[in-house]
Amino acid sequence: MSHNLLWGVDWYPEQWDKTLWESDVQRMAEQGFQVVRMMEFAWPILEPRPGNYDFSLFDSVIDILEKYKLTVVLGTPTAIMPVWLVDQDPTILAVHPNRLTRDFGCRRMGCMNAPVYQKAARQLVQAIADHYGPRQSIIGWQIDNEIGHEGSDHCVCDHCRAAWHRWLEKRYETIEELNRRWGTIFWGSTYTRFDQIPLPRQQVATNHNPALLLDYDRFSSDTAVSWAEAQVQIIRQKARAHQFITTNLYPAPLAQCIDMEDMVRIMDAAGWDNYPVWGNQDEPLPYFFTSYVLSYVRGLHPSGNFKVMEEFSGIQGHTQLGHLPPPEQVALWTNQAIARGANAIFYFRWRTAPYAQEQLCYGIRDTDNTETERERHIITNMQNLSPVLKTFASEPVPAEACLVYDRDTSRLIREQPLSLGMDRRPTSYMQVGYDAELARWFAPYVLYNVNCDIKSTKSVNLDNYKLISLPFYQITDEAFVQKLSDWVARGGHLVLGWRSGSRTTDNWNIDRPLPGLFRELAGIRVTNFEALGTGSTGICLKDTLIHQFISKIITCKGEVWADILEPETATIIARYRDSKKHYTGKPAFTRNKYGQGFVWYLGTSPDPKTTFFLYKSILKQAGLAGRFLGLGIEAVQRITQEGKTVMVLLNHTSKKKRVLGKIIPPWGTLVIDSI
Ligand SMILES: [Zn+2]
Repeated sequence: MSHNLLWGVDWYPEQWDKTLWESDVQRMAEQGFQVVRMMEFAWPILEPRPGNYDFSLFDSVIDILEKYKLTVVLGTPTAIMPVWLVDQDPTILAVHPNRLTRDFGCRRMGCMNAPVYQKAARQLVQAIADHYGPRQSIIGWQIDNEIGHEGSDHCVCDHCRAAWHRWLEKRYETIEELNRRWGTIFWGSTYTRFDQIPLPRQQVATNHNPALLLDYDRFSSDTAVSWAEAQVQIIRQKARAHQFITTNLYPAPLAQCIDMEDMVRIMDAAGWDNYPVWGNQDEPLPYFFTSYVLSYVRGLHPSGNFKVMEEFSGIQGHTQLGHLPPPEQVALWTNQAIARGANAIFYFRWRTAPYAQEQLCYGIRDTDNTETERERHIITNMQNLSPVLKTFASEPVPAEACLVYDRDTSRLIREQPLSLGMDRRPTSYMQVGYDAELARWFAPYVLYNVNCDIKSTKSVNLDNYKLISLPFYQITDEAFVQKLSDWVARGGHLVLGWRSGSRTTDNWNIDRPLPGLFRELAGIRVTNFEALGTGSTGICLKDTLIHQFISKIITCKGEVWADILEPETATIIARYRDSKKHYTGKPAFTRNKYGQGFVWYLGTSPDPKTTFFLYKSILKQAGLAGRFLGLGIEAVQRITQEGKTVMVLLNHTSKKKRVLGKIIPPWGTLVIDSI
């Protein structure tokens, strides 16, 4: 079957009486769904007793699905485990850094370094792959479920402690080398053996050495990646050629320590769960934030597309509910995901569970199993737009701009947010300050409707782009700075953010004036800096006549941080203007010509108004044809299989809008020929 654009639904037949199965499947088929994702929490059903596998339930279900020509994506159900496994070895339960041992009966409670859990999971996945790998109707696999979510990227149990010591010894070889690079002379924390090194449990007052914390994040990421890779390798040996392998990542992509590029590199595609509103949020995430996350997921895998393994259908939460989006907006979020590179949508979930932890996670249908308003909108949208969306859904998203992030910097921010403005923690285990800052830097591309990729410092191919935004690049790799310099010299345009170049890859403060390795490239010195917390400072744009006029009539602001700049070869394009700041009048933004290219240095994070005016100049100078179509209007350019360029217009407002001569209804989507 064609994989250009898959429409699917997440279904849990084990939670329903089997008399409902056939009518469920028949309705899915009639509505136009092609595929069902299931089984990702079914370990106790598949292996009710150690080593005794029972596939009868899912065999029966797949028989029915095949009868109605539906295909299947199977999840490996290792995000939970059967209770007999915990009875066998209670030490498989993970210990959170807050010293609480996770309980059986929740999810993601196993330690990914526990040998008994690893072995049982591998045996289970082998049995599943042996049984279902040959089956034609299986078209894909989802590895585990939301690996690392809900704080499960960190464990401090004894299994992890042993693995941590092995990991450190491999990395540093000698304890003397570790002591030197961690700076353990400080506070007398010098070690004499690797097995003395603690796992960083939460402390009452002072923290652990940030070098230890950064390595612990790297170690924890490697743990999760190895966990997933072990399963991929087993399935790969048994999977038929048409079956893809993915996993489902989760919102707030950089809040966890796991390197998701590493995670999906041996899979066939990245996958994630798309919930633009969740829990007790009183409004959805801003549409540019969702675009940021969608583009981030797209950038994780070289295929250039991704799969949404869980797409919002009904209102969602575990203990509290919040904003109810209109059903038209639910359909719009689907189309936004496809516009940004999704080529498979699985709605979560077919029908709301009557019981248990997710009884507040509403599906396409409610527990009463009658048609809902949102169901009608979801199905109508799918049926009406699928013919046009599938002409480009599996094609690469063209982009001449790229936002670049750094995984180690994201890890560091969890421990050292630097400014209250970066310290955003919606839950105790989630620090989303770096995500929020990156989304702010992505916003101008959404505002001006310029397609923009998101790539990491280790995977970005600079030559694909005219313009690179690199915010807050603290942990600075010398080789990458050299690549950037060469690229700018050849004509690239780089927008560099505050605090860049301030640390080495060992997390030492750099031993030269800031911005460290970027000094010549940016043509400035950073003479001082201030954390602005949740406040701001006024700034005055002065690059163009329009900027000068704007600065007279409105107050532009910088937020989060203020680097005070001294140009060496750069031109000043904005100054601080704030009577409460002693550095008022000092340069805030600069632009430096370097070879054939230019480097902007933004010493503070521009507020939305400043962003709007500033990026108008930046995009123009970089030769990118940005076009503002109104607040709430998002336009994404795509190229169809036939090579035709089209524009997907998304109206994120509750008002009818006229855009480029076309009328878009509230929360509507239109695909037009590009003009
Ligand atoms: Zn552990």
